[in-house]
Amino acid sequence: MRFPLRLPLLVLCLTACNSTPTPGAVDHARLQRDTEPGQWLANGRNWRAERFSPLTRISDQNVDSLGVAWEYEFRSHRGRVEHGQEATPVMVDGVIYVSGPWGTVAAIDAVSGVEKWRYDPKVDGAYGRRACCGVVNRGVAVFKGNVYVATLDGFLVALDAATGAERWRSDTFTDRTRSYTITGSPIVAGDNVIIGNSGGEYGVRGYISAWNWETGKFSWRFYTVPGDPAKGAEHPEVAEAAKTWDPKSDWASGLGGTVWGEMAYDPALDLLYVGTGNSSPYPIWHRSPAGGDNLYLVSILAIKPDSGRLAWHYQQVPSEIWDYTATSNFVLADLPIGGATRKVIMQAPKNGIFYVLDRETGAFISGTPFVHVNWTTGIDSVTGRPTLNPAADYRNGPALVFPTQAGAHNWQPMAWNPQTRLMYLTALEEGMVMWGEKTYTWKPGRINMGASAYLGVIPPALPGVPAAAMTKLRAEAAKHPDPAPQAWLVAWDPVQRKARWRRPLGKTEIDGGVLTTAGNLVFTGSHDGRLLAWSADSGTALGEWNIGTGILAAPSSYEMKGEQYIAVNAGYGGALQVAYPPGTAAITRENYGRVLAFKLGGAAPKLPPLRTNDTTPLPPALPELAGADAARGEGLFMSHCVFCHAGRGNAQRSAYPDLNRMTAETHARFDDIVLRGALKDFGMAPHADVLTAENSRDIHAFLVREQTRLRGEELAPPKR
Ligand code: CA
Repeated sequence: MRFPLRLPLLVLCLTACNSTPTPGAVDHARLQRDTEPGQWLANGRNWRAERFSPLTRISDQNVDSLGVAWEYEFRSHRGRVEHGQEATPVMVDGVIYVSGPWGTVAAIDAVSGVEKWRYDPKVDGAYGRRACCGVVNRGVAVFKGNVYVATLDGFLVALDAATGAERWRSDTFTDRTRSYTITGSPIVAGDNVIIGNSGGEYGVRGYISAWNWETGKFSWRFYTVPGDPAKGAEHPEVAEAAKTWDPKSDWASGLGGTVWGEMAYDPALDLLYVGTGNSSPYPIWHRSPAGGDNLYLVSILAIKPDSGRLAWHYQQVPSEIWDYTATSNFVLADLPIGGATRKVIMQAPKNGIFYVLDRETGAFISGTPFVHVNWTTGIDSVTGRPTLNPAADYRNGPALVFPTQAGAHNWQPMAWNPQTRLMYLTALEEGMVMWGEKTYTWKPGRINMGASAYLGVIPPALPGVPAAAMTKLRAEAAKHPDPAPQAWLVAWDPVQRKARWRRPLGKTEIDGGVLTTAGNLVFTGSHDGRLLAWSADSGTALGEWNIGTGILAAPSSYEMKGEQYIAVNAGYGGALQVAYPPGTAAITRENYGRVLAFKLGGAAPKLPPLRTNDTTPLPPALPELAGADAARGEGLFMSHCVFCHAGRGNAQRSAYPDLNRMTAETHARFDDIVLRGALKDFGMAPHADVLTAENSRDIHAFLVREQTRLRGEELAPPKR
């Protein structure tokens, strides 16, 4: 009778006695089993990407005693510049893997917060200029002992999960003269690691590419929009898509459709789900003058991961003109709909519609507005095709459009709670005034949108727009809610197709990703530096913790040695770093990337030091600027500089240096910095390819004027 005793022990030991498991031991089978509530094995925790933790030690009964267990400083800043943190901490067998700006990765002990290793891809700072929406990174994938990260400069890298050493790296860019970057997260599907790219605002052609997870050998590439037909279609889907474009489309503009959001993979159906981005340029009359749906812009694609062949597609916005994207995160679930259980994929993208599709066939199930929407007048309940609203078309003058290009919901991940059967997302109610450029030609190395927008406000006048058109716009606005921003935490029922509850998060465009747990909890971070907790069933506010650093990323949760943790990656920046409300608590303090882990009975969060409120220095006398044109400089500043350098003074801080308060030394080096890349390592790329010496002098003259004005305001504040 020795065997029956020994055999169970052996089986137990195979699964539990190994106290130091192989680092990063995640595979499809482990994800599919989903039997380890204490782990957070992927961005969305499991293969369904729910962002739900089954842990209950922290609950609605005790969450108020949450405090900080440990803090890890990311050290990803370069010089004075700190970029946003957008990645979710992944936790596998006691080690947190988390990425940051440029594609840096930290492996951190999940209990002590001590760094195990840190990887810095040493990206050429010149790539910073190509990142429309901040030098950010949205996460890693862990698989069979490797940690995969994509670097801002376009390399897909496999790191040894034990040491952080590079195992292989592959160049994913097809054309390095184009303004491609990568800010998205890779995913492993089948035997391949798949990655897309960013750069739609600059005029690039979107695609995803696949490499063998183990060898790093190239497998396939799928272009999301056609290229110049004279050069031939790279794969059958491109030829199919080309039928929905004008044969005289502006191929030079790349056309967009970039894949920079979170992908998902169903291992049972063996389908990879991919969301594509906006058009480039935005106005279809410049891009594909004869019109057409313009596949596969703003679409969900289901792709066979081993062959790269398309299984189905669903386009959310045919003929896209509003910078809408299908790049928000996906959640996979089995839902009771119409008396049957449907395998669904859910997404709440920028256009304000909550989509439920059959993830096996792509069949449309429902599409329901979760904020005020006017780009469509309705969606066909069978085909899922939206009717576009002519009133939101800005071809013949400015149009008021709901929601905005910031998105009713953007990349900040939503979370699905299978117990409440509710989706929790941070939503933005806001309108924008959008208008197009009369003429458009793609220009290398700069933003190529062909249109502009004012978010949250109807300006009294617009450049080149007649007063009659503004009167018409204001008349249209009377039919809609106030376009001013209002962020909400929404609990959405995808079966009943309505919000169960929603709670205000502030009059801001900026909000964070979401975590929900079996402890009847929902967590999200706030732009002004607080971690917030709510009850999942009723939306009761249960606690807030001021950490003094703006939070964009979604928290995650894990359990080690009987303790449950809530981990969050804090650091403000990203696309809307210029839109932080003046005086916001988070931006009055130093901004640097920090991973914080909370547990019951932890300590009070430490706040970063307050920034000093210096008086703006008087700019030095600069005789070399005699004859420079500040008005012309203002125009150049608005088209080349403002995306990063919109900060002004003590109240309106941005994550990047404030050019309204340059030191004498910066003034002296202005041309060296702007034209010749003196601060390239910090992310300030040389601009000699797009700006002349005269342009630089005009911009400089404008900034001197603004600095003088700002100093005057500080010394004699305007009377209210
Ligand atoms: Ca965009």
